[in-house]
Amino acid sequence: MGLIRRRIGALLLTILTLGLTLPRGNAVPITAKENGSPKRIALTFDDGPSTRYTGEILDILKEYGVKATFFTVGVNIEKAPDLLRRIVSEGHEIGNHTYSHPHLQKMDAATLAEELARTDALIRRVAGVSPTLFRPPEGVVTTSVKAAAQGGGYRLVLWSIDTRDWALNPVSDILQTVKREASDGDIILFHDWVAGRSPTPDALRQVIPWLIAEGYEFVTVGQLMQ
Ligand SMILES: [Zn+2]
Repeated sequence: MGLIRRRIGALLLTILTLGLTLPRGNAVPITAKENGSPKRIALTFDDGPSTRYTGEILDILKEYGVKATFFTVGVNIEKAPDLLRRIVSEGHEIGNHTYSHPHLQKMDAATLAEELARTDALIRRVAGVSPTLFRPPEGVVTTSVKAAAQGGGYRLVLWSIDTRDWALNPVSDILQTVKREASDGDIILFHDWVAGRSPTPDALRQVIPWLIAEGYEFVTVGQLMQ
């Protein structure tokens, strides 16, 4: 009895030791930076949720085990609340992208604060989470935008790589853009709502495997900013 227990103990110790020495995600080679930590990158999706593309994009992210950040628009949440709940339940982060996606150049801080508050309330009610990130439509940052973000307790988030999927940029161009520009700490701009035939799902099927092969770890914007 004692011998068996010792043998089981030794076996457990072996498994634990092996487990500790195996690299994380050992099926995929991790290209480490010089300081030894993996490169990190954040995929972001604006303007949804949309019944046309958000589900397909979520399927692709799930297939590759990728967590991303969705900057959602209030009017679209009202049209597809189930998709907002699905985004959250599958472990992605939600950001505020205003209620009606207005042009912000001439908008005063009080009106923008209402836009933010309305979408904030929707996200809380529909998905039970409180967004802390705000991406202004078209990346417009004015004094009013900064004031409204600060007043609402938001961190302003832009991006460092624009795939131009919103302009229906072809898949091959999107892949080339990412290959040319991607580096540690980047935030990539995609859209899960576009007017027209979106290149985004097909682009993701190429961009994500390329980034994985290059050793990138996918994080949410919140994780990247920590
Ligand atoms: Zn937008």
